[in-house]
Amino acid sequence: MKRFDLGRVWIRQLLFAAVAIAVAIGPVVVLAHGVATAQIQDYISHRRQAAEFEAGQVIAADAQMNGWSDIGQLLPRLAQVTGERIVLTNAGGQVVADSAQQVKPGAKAPRLPDAHQLRIVSPTGTLLGVATLTPSPALINSASRNNFAGIVADALLVAAGASFVVALLLSFVLSHTITGPITAVISAARKLQRGDLGARVKVAASGELAELAHSFNAMADGLDEANQQRQQMVADVAHELRTPLTILRGYLEALADGVIAPTPDALRGVHTEAVHLQHLVEDLQDLALAESKQLVMDRTAVEVPGLVRGIVDGFALQAREKNIDLSAAFEGQVPTITGDARRLGEVLRNLVANALAYTPAGGRVDVRVRPTQEGGVEVAVADTGIGIGPQDLANVFERFYRTDKSRTRATGGAGLGLTIAKRLVEAHGGRIGVESEPGRGSRFWFTLPAPS
Ligand code: ADP
Repeated sequence: MKRFDLGRVWIRQLLFAAVAIAVAIGPVVVLAHGVATAQIQDYISHRRQAAEFEAGQVIAADAQMNGWSDIGQLLPRLAQVTGERIVLTNAGGQVVADSAQQVKPGAKAPRLPDAHQLRIVSPTGTLLGVATLTPSPALINSASRNNFAGIVADALLVAAGASFVVALLLSFVLSHTITGPITAVISAARKLQRGDLGARVKVAASGELAELAHSFNAMADGLDEANQQRQQMVADVAHELRTPLTILRGYLEALADGVIAPTPDALRGVHTEAVHLQHLVEDLQDLALAESKQLVMDRTAVEVPGLVRGIVDGFALQAREKNIDLSAAFEGQVPTITGDARRLGEVLRNLVANALAYTPAGGRVDVRVRPTQEGGVEVAVADTGIGIGPQDLANVFERFYRTDKSRTRATGGAGLGLTIAKRLVEAHGGRIGVESEPGRGSRFWFTLPAPS
């Protein structure tokens, strides 16, 4: 990965923070500098006016007392005090003295830039002369040396720079507290991608980052569980296929070795095993499709009572042979629902077949159809059979689950029938359940919603 990548969150955040801080501090610095400069200018010009006035007073007093005889020494000292060059001219406009001693006495007054003219008058109001004051280069230098505005600007710049750096540091730390957990999620996701399904991230105390970590961990848990289920499924499928295949192989080897003769009975045995195998594979395929939600449903209007009647009639002979009383009852007016009649028939056939299988001779199996409170249909198959213990009840809809672990396929199915039934009912938007009491019987039911 590139070291400086604009797509990286912390770099982006830092840039945003830098711009935001500059936008926030910049105007403050400019404004503060402007105000300070104006105040200082004001102060300097007041000082200049006061100093010039003082100088005018001194020059006027000197004129009175000494008739400017010592003005040649006085002017440079005044110039030093006021920080200005002073050129004094008499009432006739001739130079009396120049503090900078550039213009000779008696010469014409020079034109000076940025000059203030000060009239020197006697106490009686007679014009004695004019003092022309201009800021001397020395004053300008010392003013710039003591340039308050510059000092203020420097201080402001230092303060702005320092707060900019501190703010950037803080935002750097903040962005790392954000990117840290994100980086942790990315590295855990990479581990998952490489097949390490145990990879999880530490969950922060609260907030969106904690939510991100939670969601990631939940996703990883889901993947882990799905993977375990897949492994378990493969193991279960292999286990279920092994028995019929072993029997088939035994038959075929015995036939090949001449141990048993290829009589119709022996061949029927082979055929039965092949049919078992085929059913198992078909069930597995249905289950795989249902679990991946890819089962193609042929939805039509279904009259549930008619469907139930047909299926119960189909089991009549089997029930009679087992000496079980099989009946169907229809309560109230049930709505026509929308669904796949063949798949729904499969669900009911499975429940009735189980009820007949787990009910001893002399027992009863009742199929009942009635409307639900929500406007749908409920179909229930109640038997007076062996029942299911509480510890098994929660698991009968799990795939490959059989209450009697020692039972082989010869005495029952692979434990897929109810799992498929559950998936099919749920694919119709319905629910399936069971109540049972060991020794007294079971009641399996499923509901189908009213057409919307
Ligand atoms: P199987 O093909 O083994 O019948 P199912 O998924 O249909 O598989 O049923 C799972 C298990 O639930 C069965 O093995 C059986 O132990 C139990 N079971 C199902 N229906 C009944 C019932 N009516 N009475 C008692 N036990 C039942």
